[in-house]
Amino acid sequence: MDKIKMNTPIVEMDGDEMTRIIWQQIKDILILPFVDLNSEYYDLGLVHRNETKDQVTVDSANATKKYGVAVKCATITPNAQRVEEYNLSEMYKSPNGTIRAILDGTVFRAPIIVKGVEPYVKSWKKPITIARHAYGDVYKNTEMRALEGGKAELCITDKDGNEQRSLIMDFKGDGIIQGMHNTDKSISSFARSCFNYALDTKQDVWFSSKDTISKIYDHRFKDIFNEIFEAEYKEKFEKAGIEYFYTLIDDAVARVIRSEGGYIWACKNYDGDVMSDMVATAFGSLAMMTSVLVSPDGVYEYEAAHGTVQRHYYKHLKGEETSTNSVATIFAWSGALRKRGELDKNADLMAFADKLEKATIDTIESGIMTGDLYLISTLENKKKVNTTEFLEAIGKLLTEYCK
Ligand code: NAP
Ligand code: MG
Repeated sequence: MDKIKMNTPIVEMDGDEMTRIIWQQIKDILILPFVDLNSEYYDLGLVHRNETKDQVTVDSANATKKYGVAVKCATITPNAQRVEEYNLSEMYKSPNGTIRAILDGTVFRAPIIVKGVEPYVKSWKKPITIARHAYGDVYKNTEMRALEGGKAELCITDKDGNEQRSLIMDFKGDGIIQGMHNTDKSISSFARSCFNYALDTKQDVWFSSKDTISKIYDHRFKDIFNEIFEAEYKEKFEKAGIEYFYTLIDDAVARVIRSEGGYIWACKNYDGDVMSDMVATAFGSLAMMTSVLVSPDGVYEYEAAHGTVQRHYYKHLKGEETSTNSVATIFAWSGALRKRGELDKNADLMAFADKLEKATIDTIESGIMTGDLYLISTLENKKKVNTTEFLEAIGKLLTEYCK
């Protein structure tokens, strides 16, 4: 069998702990036997981030801008304990934060659905993708304790020194106060990323906020989405047979629960934080959640939504058997290869990505699964396998599908 050729590289960002082990196995068992892999490799493992003073993270993000597609392994975000464990010269920032700041994107998270792992919400048949705005609001706030007799005002001093003031509260008793912001630029990129992703995946977009109560702040989000949609996307959406609609956040929550799924739910930063955990849990498992960062100029970075699965790694180091679920990481690879194929008009590569995903899902639906799914699967003939056996079972099917 001839291996599939790739004209343009994808950016490969290696990572840490158990997911680093899985990363190599996925390549060895599921990618390299079938694809003549063309990747520009960046080692984002904590040891190498420390050796390069985190320059490797910046370089990998810039390479992603250059080539347009990246696949990323989960990485450790250092805390005090990691500084000691890895003898770090600094407490480096989260690689995902650094990459997001350079690519300026929106994060889309979608569950992978398999028979036997049933959503808790009975009506959900198709995945619900959450698009979370990842800038501003309460995550970049200023807050204070206000005491009795205090007077709180909102004040903007413009560039000529003129002040615009508005009373927030004359405190008759002790209380609290909070200030937050967003920018037209960030909201606009968020809107464009959502609309582009919708065209890409042929799904409707729902956007929700609370503009009836927040008549300037949330209303600005609504207006920007609307203006960009009307000016740049309306016709493309009509052609693709998909829709954009805006609704209040409380109405959206009610509709989501009654829905079948199969759309993108664009959420403000806080709503997205809360709702993505709810949706992931209600669909069954964190290890079955994909994540892709899409920048407004069409650059894509694929990863799993979970972390480095540290507890399993320590077992692995002790020589104990692990049963770690590699599905979300496999789908990060298939997502990146499919996107590369699309951009390069490489039909073979796109078809391979489809086969890889099908082999993965068919393996689980045939009853072969890792421990996390074994616990929740309703299949009768289910069998728990270890980390490597699971990948080998997928590899066997994939070999058949690629004949
Ligand atoms: P985690 O890696 O998401 O794992 C938490 C627990 O969830 C695991 O102990 C395991 O439960 C279960 N789990 C998650 N993924 C699984 C999988 N693929 N297969 C089976 N079980 C899975 O979170 P963490 O252990 O709290 O974080 C470890 C490191 O990951 C941290 O250093 C953090 O900074 C980093 N992190 C990175 C990213 C990223 O790069 N995108 C995201 C989140 C966290 P059981 O132990 O019960 O089996
Ligand atoms: Mg959260």
